[in-house]
Amino acid sequence: MLRCALDWQPQPLLEPLRLDWLTRAGVELAVLRLDRIDSLISGNKWFKLIHHLRAAHEAGAEGVMSLGGAYSNHLHALAAAGKRFGFPTVGLLRGHPVETPTVLDLQAFGMALHWLGYAGYRERHAPGFWDDWCARYPHFYPVPEGGSGLSGAQGCKAWVTRAREQLATLGWRDYHGWWLACGTGTSLAGLVLAEAGAHPVYGVLAVPPDHGVAQQVDGMVKTAGLAQPCYELLDGSRGGFARVDADLTAFIQGTGEIELEPLYTGKALLLLKARVDAGQFAAGTRLIFVHTGGLQGRRGFE
Ligand SMILES: *Cc1c(COP(=O)(O)O)cnc(C)c1O
Repeated sequence: MLRCALDWQPQPLLEPLRLDWLTRAGVELAVLRLDRIDSLISGNKWFKLIHHLRAAHEAGAEGVMSLGGAYSNHLHALAAAGKRFGFPTVGLLRGHPVETPTVLDLQAFGMALHWLGYAGYRERHAPGFWDDWCARYPHFYPVPEGGSGLSGAQGCKAWVTRAREQLATLGWRDYHGWWLACGTGTSLAGLVLAEAGAHPVYGVLAVPPDHGVAQQVDGMVKTAGLAQPCYELLDGSRGGFARVDADLTAFIQGTGEIELEPLYTGKALLLLKARVDAGQFAAGTRLIFVHTGGLQGRRGFE
């Protein structure tokens, strides 16, 4: 069953996005629509999972278990993949039982849920954390929170190929860089590795700059052996992860051309607007914005 998941190679479309503030500055933007790869499975989380699923398959596992919160896009993608391809999934949740739209979906997708409380969830990095769960679910493969780490990043490298294949459909011969939201920086690391310095990758932090994302990206890039990475991390957190203010809400509501959520994609595009308005990009600049998904998690905030 895991085998079937590994054979699936979703092809995200690259679409032009025309907004008045882009037109004014003469900046062209194309969006890589990870949010539209499938009716059940959405966003960057599938790509971050794929190498973990491969490892699970190679280890002879039948199912997959992982961790997340009650709005987790990661658990949602994992549970949806389990449902789509017919392998069992286990979700270990932060906090105490709540029925968010995400949690209801996880249950509907057939994921077995365990609530760890807050103290229990904080133990997730402790050595031996998985021992009890592996004993309880002997044929299940544990995947780290969010599908992070270098194997998560490896799964995101394909975006560069997918986008380059579609440049001609936009009438583009080349582009000047990537723009995307960052949580752990795993997705950004995948782009940086695939570009190998050919184009810069701009990552907008959805978490405050003291969360160690720069060190994590640095670590992944070094481990992968890339000598000259080309990327920049920008603070787009607006005071904290999941902190939503009136300007952000108004921006998302005013951008009817594309659906955004406030935690990642909305913050990333809003910071791009600020940089474009400030004249950071010359007329004629062509950028690719990665729509990393997350629209399901937004349901809890409406
Ligand atoms: C998880 C997530 C991100 C962050 O991805 P990282 O690889 O952790 O940086 C960005 N956007 C959305 C919608 C996400 O769900």
